[in-house]
Amino acid sequence: MQATMPDAEGRCPKCGGPTELGTLGTMSYLGGTQWYRERSALALGGETIVSKPLGGMTWLDGHRCPGCRLLVLTY
Ligand SMILES: [Zn+2]
Repeated sequence: MQATMPDAEGRCPKCGGPTELGTLGTMSYLGGTQWYRERSALALGGETIVSKPLGGMTWLDGHRCPGCRLLVLTY
């Protein structure tokens, strides 16, 4: 089974290269940040994963592999 998370050294689960630690910041004035299983024009049916924005932003900590353009985030 293919890995889906960086390992203990923070290597990318796709290419095995180094990832960088960081935080994804998203503008979120209403209702926090939602996860959608698929895109929809009216953004309906999302599951709230961060409910209380700080100053209009929500923050998701995680790893980024710039080469693969892959983000692995925690919430
Ligand atoms: Zn990678």
